[in-house]
Amino acid sequence: MNKLEERVHLLNEQILLQEKNQDKLLFLNEMKKIGIEKLPYSYSSLKQFIDSETMSYHYNKHYKGYVDKLNKALSKKDYGDLELEEIIKSISKFNTTIRNNAGGAFNHALFWKMLSPKKQTPKGELLKKIKSEFGSFNEFKTQFEEVAKERFGSGWVWLVLTKKNQLKIMSTPNQDNPLMNVIKSGGYPILGLDLWEHAYYLKYKNKRDEYISNFWRCVNWEFVDELFSLRTKRKLNESMKIKQVLNEGISERCSKEENESIRFIFNINPKVKQIFRFKIDSILKDVFKEHYYEKGEYGENESSGIYDLESDGRSVINKLNTNYTCFCILLNDVNKVLSRENLPKINLIGQPPFAQISETRKFVNVLDKYKNRIFDVNSATFSNIMSTLTKTNQIGDKTENSTVNILKKKFGDENVIQIGKLGSTEDMVGGVDCEIVIDSETKTAQIKPYSSIKKSDNKYVIYGTGQVKPYKTDFLIFTKGNKEVLVFKNESTKIVNGNFVLPVDNLIYQLN
Ligand code: MN
Repeated sequence: MNKLEERVHLLNEQILLQEKNQDKLLFLNEMKKIGIEKLPYSYSSLKQFIDSETMSYHYNKHYKGYVDKLNKALSKKDYGDLELEEIIKSISKFNTTIRNNAGGAFNHALFWKMLSPKKQTPKGELLKKIKSEFGSFNEFKTQFEEVAKERFGSGWVWLVLTKKNQLKIMSTPNQDNPLMNVIKSGGYPILGLDLWEHAYYLKYKNKRDEYISNFWRCVNWEFVDELFSLRTKRKLNESMKIKQVLNEGISERCSKEENESIRFIFNINPKVKQIFRFKIDSILKDVFKEHYYEKGEYGENESSGIYDLESDGRSVINKLNTNYTCFCILLNDVNKVLSRENLPKINLIGQPPFAQISETRKFVNVLDKYKNRIFDVNSATFSNIMSTLTKTNQIGDKTENSTVNILKKKFGDENVIQIGKLGSTEDMVGGVDCEIVIDSETKTAQIKPYSSIKKSDNKYVIYGTGQVKPYKTDFLIFTKGNKEVLVFKNESTKIVNGNFVLPVDNLIYQLN
């Protein structure tokens, strides 16, 4: 008896285990299946575009049919648990049944989300992009409708984002999708319209054109924008994260001596600075093309440059082109890469001017070659540069603000106007930091921090000034420790050994 009971118990255990395994298998198979996307609104809520009967048939019969047939076809061969998007992207590996049904499942899943009962219009970046590529939103709509009308038989019309980040209107036959690797020059679909008869026939009959033009009443532009941003703003979102870790001090800076050497070269050899500046400008324009705005494009008074990168507004990255500390960081990191690859390092320090120029040319060419790696949000160099620029900028702002405050005490609040921020054109080219009204005459001024000043032969030599170059402003204002402010007339100013040299008589105000 005992033995029999034991055997029964054992058998029960085995049966249970088998059932468990079967359940597990069923569950796993279920998990492998492509799921049904829920309809985010009721069948009747898009009446301005499509009737509820069509919606119900379209969703329950056609769409669910594609998903069912796809899952059946996938289960015949063991394809593992592929995501629908993966299948679409590698569709050439599958047979026609899978191509048609995966396409149907994917296209409709997208299509449901691209519609909304709420009347919407495109905004912001997306609208700007549409306008810049099609001329106007209306022109885009016209072209989209034209391509839709040209589609003969069943298919879809799409707005896609190409690999080169350009918008393109295209159409695909049957249930093909622009993401399929069998589609020539496709792209990432951000808007699509179903052109199958099953999508409109009950309501529109043979008037397909009317169906097409009524589509605009129900486009979910918020979703389209989400898809658009996902492809174009990845950098932005991630660089925002970078800003959050900026102050954790994980980045390596150059030593004081290294920085001082670069500052010296920068100021004594304008050609070096010029080569660097031009290359950095073109690199940034290229790498951050989605964030680049021409003069007046971002805002009426905004200069050209990179915007909305680490946060809203003008980015600190615009100051990279004249920042010697960052030049030093880039140079060190580039040299690390070069020596790892057994290539000769770039040697600037202690070289005669002509050699500095040729070495700088080599340097910027390496920067250009590696630009996408260097100016990537995951690169250590990039976060180092962003944190350096942010800090320099904060210090710069502080210096400028406290100097302006000292000037205001002297000349009156309303007579001192601070202008030009973050490497804007005025700051860079005109070099105007502020305007001072003296005896109802407006004088422009450039504000520069300095470390020390020496008097010799009726001249002042000003040491430790960041950017030494000729300025066209009426005044040069030097400030030390946010306390002392020296206002010089900017006349017969000379640059000697990378330092400003001014006649003694030019010092017109000494404030603190
Ligand atoms: Mn359909």
